[in-house]
Amino acid sequence: MCKVIAVANSKGGVGKTTSAANLGFGLAKKGKKVLMIDLDPQGNLSQSLGIKEPDELEYSLVSVLEKVINNKVINDKEALFHHEEGLDLIPGNIELSGLENMLERVIAREKILGAYLEQVKQNYDYVIIDCMPSLSKLTFNALCCADTILIPVQAAYLPMRGLQQLIQTIANAKRWINPKLEIEGVLITMVDTRCNNTKEIIEKVRQAYGNYVCIFDTFIPKSVRLEEVAATGMSIYTYAPKSKPALAYEALTEEVLSHEKI
Ligand code: ATP
Ligand code: MG
Repeated sequence: MCKVIAVANSKGGVGKTTSAANLGFGLAKKGKKVLMIDLDPQGNLSQSLGIKEPDELEYSLVSVLEKVINNKVINDKEALFHHEEGLDLIPGNIELSGLENMLERVIAREKILGAYLEQVKQNYDYVIIDCMPSLSKLTFNALCCADTILIPVQAAYLPMRGLQQLIQTIANAKRWINPKLEIEGVLITMVDTRCNNTKEIIEKVRQAYGNYVCIFDTFIPKSVRLEEVAATGMSIYTYAPKSKPALAYEALTEEVLSHEKI
C-alpha cells in the first residue's frame, strides 16, 4: 500500500519544500521506497534534489502530465530521476505554469496527477508531493489524489492566521472531490527558541487546532544549515548529520511512520 502525502500551504516560504525533501530522504533512510513529485513551477524541490536547471529539462512532470491529458502511453522511466540517497523524483519546472492554463480546457482537470500516480504508485511506499504556494489547479490536483496533507506553518503570529482557511479548503476538498483525504499533521517550522513569542505561538496553535488535527510533537528549528543544504542537492542528514535540524527531521519521519500503524 502506497501513501500519498502532499505538502501544502498557500502561504509562501514556510518550509514546504525543505520539509518535503527531508521527510522524503528520512523515509528513504528507513528503507521505504519514495517518489518525490515537484508540483511547483519554481522547481525548488528539483533543485534541492540536485537538478541544477530544471527549466532546461526535456522530460519533467509536465511532459508526463501532457501525455496523461492526451491519452498517450507513458514510458515507465520517463522523467524519473534517481537520487543517490535513495529517492526517485519527477522534477517540475516553469512549464507547469503553462500546464496550469491548459488545464482550464481539460475535463476532470483536477484528476490528471492522480491518473498518473495510479500508474506508478504500486512501485512505492510513499509519494511526497511538494505543492506551490497557492491554491491553484495544480494544488487541487494534489488535494484530489493525496491520502493526507502535511501542512508546514512558520512559527510566527501572522502566518498562523491563514491556517484556518487552509484547513477549511482541505475539508471542502474532502467533501467534494476526495473523501479519503485526511490531514497528516501541522508542522511548525522555523522555530526560533530565543524568540519570546515562539512558545506562546506553539501553545496557541495547539489550543486552537490540537483537538481536531494532529499537530506534530516535532517542530523544526530555525537553522542556517537548512538554508545552506538546498544548494548542495543533499539531505540534511548527509550535509549536517546530528545537527538540530537533522534530528528534528528524523523525529518528524518517525512520527509520520508511526501514523502507518493507526
Ligand atoms: P515556497 O512557498 O516559495 O515554495 P516553501 O514553503 O517551499 O517556499 P522553503 O523553500 O522550504 O519554503 O523555505 C523557504 C526558505 O527558507 C528557503 O531559503 C529555505 O532554505 C529556508 N528555510 C526553510 N526551512 C528553514 C528553517 N527551519 N530554518 C531556516 N531556514 C529555513
Ligand atoms: Mg517550495
